[in-house]
Amino acid sequence: MAKICNQAQDWLDHHYSFGHAIALRYFSMECTGRINRDDFDPKTDTDLLAHVKECSECYAWIVENVGLELLERQKRLTEYCCPVLFGAVEEPKGGNLQLKLTPYPQRDGGHNWSLSLDSGSGEESTLIVNFCPFCGNLIQTADHSSL
Ligand SMILES: [Zn+2]
Ligand SMILES: [Zn+2]
Repeated sequence: MAKICNQAQDWLDHHYSFGHAIALRYFSMECTGRINRDDFDPKTDTDLLAHVKECSECYAWIVENVGLELLERQKRLTEYCCPVLFGAVEEPKGGNLQLKLTPYPQRDGGHNWSLSLDSGSGEESTLIVNFCPFCGNLIQTADHSSL
């Protein structure tokens, strides 16, 4: 195995430690939430991750250590504006409460999102939104590609 692969994998293992954090780092443009704060160097982090994203051996290492399922989940998570919206839409925990995001076409060819709240009583309330109710940013999800 190439020396840089060893170095990159040790780095991920040491600074991110857990599968969910390693996967998040892999899909993010920059470091968000590392686990170990000692001897962390942002430039080394950026350089090593640039390697990892290009390297099939390092990708195989990530798959082996993170697992495909968690890897996929974390990928979807990074495609949302914030983890709260991701959780509300993809992993609802509030009993029957469910948020659904659906593209809502606009006359100019763009779209807003419609947010439906299903309370479980058979009645759905729908709200047209542009901005995430949780973080206030423009809503983004991977579903853009299917529009
Ligand atoms: Zn590598
Ligand atoms: Zn958000």
